[in-house]
Amino acid sequence: MISVESAIDLIVQNAGTQPIEDISLAEAMGQTLAEPVSADIDSPPFDKSLMDGYAIRVADLANGRGSLIKAGEVYAGQPAGPSLLPGQAIQIMTGAAIPLGADAVVMIERTQSAGDQIMLDDPELMLGQNIMKKSLEFARDETLLWPGHTIGPAEAGLLASVGKIRIQIFRPVTISILSTGNEIVPPSQYPQPGQIRNSNASTLDASIRRVHAKPIPLGIAGDDEKELADKIEQGLSADVLVLSGGVSAGKKDLVPKTLLSLGVEQIFHGVAFKPGKPLWFGKRGESLVFGLPGNPVSVLACFEVFIKTALRARCQHPHLKPIPWRLPLAIPFDYSTRRPTYHPARIEPSQAGLFVRPVSWKGSPDLRALTEANALLMVPAGDGPYPAGTLFDTLPIHHA
Ligand code: AMP
Ligand code: MG
Repeated sequence: MISVESAIDLIVQNAGTQPIEDISLAEAMGQTLAEPVSADIDSPPFDKSLMDGYAIRVADLANGRGSLIKAGEVYAGQPAGPSLLPGQAIQIMTGAAIPLGADAVVMIERTQSAGDQIMLDDPELMLGQNIMKKSLEFARDETLLWPGHTIGPAEAGLLASVGKIRIQIFRPVTISILSTGNEIVPPSQYPQPGQIRNSNASTLDASIRRVHAKPIPLGIAGDDEKELADKIEQGLSADVLVLSGGVSAGKKDLVPKTLLSLGVEQIFHGVAFKPGKPLWFGKRGESLVFGLPGNPVSVLACFEVFIKTALRARCQHPHLKPIPWRLPLAIPFDYSTRRPTYHPARIEPSQAGLFVRPVSWKGSPDLRALTEANALLMVPAGDGPYPAGTLFDTLPIHHA
């Protein structure tokens, strides 16, 4: 059995890289850039006004006070307006180009007009006020984004502003989901004695969609080598195959041996970690295989800690390993464990900052506890109780 850290290192070393695909900007949300993106234009492309008001020369006013003659108007969307001469003010709208000769904009609220006469009163007036200089945000040819950067709303807007309407991304990871176990029936069926419904496939499907990868459902295979082998072979055509169930020490835990018989190389089997000790990881060619224990909380914890690491690595994410937050306990916590445990918990904001509160949890099958959770509290092996305020590494789990 290896440590969580060693398991993560082995996953990173063996993850491989996704092929690159060209997509349109409209499809890019949540995907990962596979090329550097540079600006084809300065931003702003000209000195621009950040306010509706008057473009003026600071030197024409005394402490921001004085009276100037209105010499014109300039609107957003117009090329450069007329130049500003001494003693003049030009009315300007937000986003319009600053007239040549002006060195500040006084907001409209600090002015009064009587015909062409503009009275200004802005005692805090400073040179450059309310002007955004050309290329302050970025200059033409500057690199703005690098491979491995995830595209979110800000990136989508930035790509649009530099005219990048086709983008090279790492092709979304395809992930086959295979649930195993003679007792597992589809959610549509009412379980007969001894049976339970397949919850893992839905947990995995939702987890995969949340990280903008592509789930491929393969249904349920019974604890039978032939049936498993057929479905596993099918699943190996995806970038990643995730199985649940059948990886522990039970007589019907046939997944590891079936994987080996199909030429999947085992990289590790067993991690000192609760809930999820029997985790199996291997690969065949470019395809990765995760054999998760069947318990529903193990499935979710293994996805968050291990599978997400593999997905980040395949897309050259700059931070591959899970990044815990170090947070104080909101309440005392009486818990003892012989293996490092990822305990369902809630990160809670308060006036005094963020705290972490363990949620009531009945063990690996207790998926319901996770509906109250937004994090996994990383409890080291050892004995509690831990007083309120004890600092714990805490892994947020509702992040892409
Ligand atoms: P296993 O890892 O096969 O020993 O299964 C561990 C536990 O998880 C057993 O109680 C299984 O019934 C349960 N389990 C296995 N697969 C699923 C599944 N797809 N959905 C819900 N529970 C499952
Ligand atoms: Mg089983």
